[in-house]
Amino acid sequence: MLTSASAVRDDGPATTQSISQNAPGGQGKGAPGKGAPGNAAQAEAVAPAPAPAPPPVVTPRKNYTYKSFNVDGNYIAMTFDDGPSPETTPQLLTMLKERGIKATFFVLGNMVAKHPEVLKMIADEGHEIGSHSWSHPQLTRISQAAVDKELGNTSEAIFQVTGKRPMYLRPPYGSMKPALRTYIEDKFGLTIVNWSVDPNDWKFRDSQKVHDAIMAQAAPGAIVLSHDIYPTTVAAMPRILDELIAKGYKFGTLSDLVAMDKSPKVQLVAALPNGKPQQAQQKPQKPKPATASAKPDAKPAKPAASAAPPQRAGGVY
Ligand SMILES: [Zn+2]
Repeated sequence: MLTSASAVRDDGPATTQSISQNAPGGQGKGAPGKGAPGNAAQAEAVAPAPAPAPPPVVTPRKNYTYKSFNVDGNYIAMTFDDGPSPETTPQLLTMLKERGIKATFFVLGNMVAKHPEVLKMIADEGHEIGSHSWSHPQLTRISQAAVDKELGNTSEAIFQVTGKRPMYLRPPYGSMKPALRTYIEDKFGLTIVNWSVDPNDWKFRDSQKVHDAIMAQAAPGAIVLSHDIYPTTVAAMPRILDELIAKGYKFGTLSDLVAMDKSPKVQLVAALPNGKPQQAQQKPQKPKPATASAKPDAKPAKPAASAAPPQRAGGVY
């Protein structure tokens, strides 16, 4: 949704446009810019409440893993994995609320079972909720029956609390295979979403590093990965969010950005070889992610092979 920044100025058509573009789902703030500059016809009308526009149906791409979006404008999606946590998630929710930012939370089923009230808070504040499996296994390494349990039980747990089943799955470690992706899409209606910005916050547990990495890699259309279960990550967020706002970024949930997505960057790159030298990096308008944008896309593509998962201490997370 909107940053408070854009909600403040209501003088230009551009702002108004982005507000309406961003409106789906959140009726909270959007309205102020509406019909601002002289609309005589409307002024006279009786003002019967116009039926609120139903949220647009978002149709994610099939057989596709989202890592970033190709959008007009400096939209970015903040995503938070491994929660909900009763200690840190509510703090983050306050930070997001203060700034009018909507984000996406990829929750673990076992955490939802333990802290349903925190999930409810997330949902009530208008954030999007995705599945991150029940117990954080590498889905490519467990049986199909185990996958069914991991994803089925998590979707069900989310549904029990929020009344909605998740549309997106972030596979633990980003680990996925095309055949499994198709299976999961067909069986659970889950679209796979990885990321383009990874601060490795779970590894460093250092607010400054989280800040620096996100600021260096942020780009229009980016999907930012981090974890709302680490105090160091949550502590870094106010500064990160404020600096992103200052750079002109606007924030949306995954569904917001899916709805705006024009074409996958992969195709964009493929189409270019005969033409221009610079491809996806051309897109960014204001912020200058030039150097950074090359790396992040590469990262999730390589779900660290054998040794990686055990590093994620604690099993559950
Ligand atoms: Zn995770």
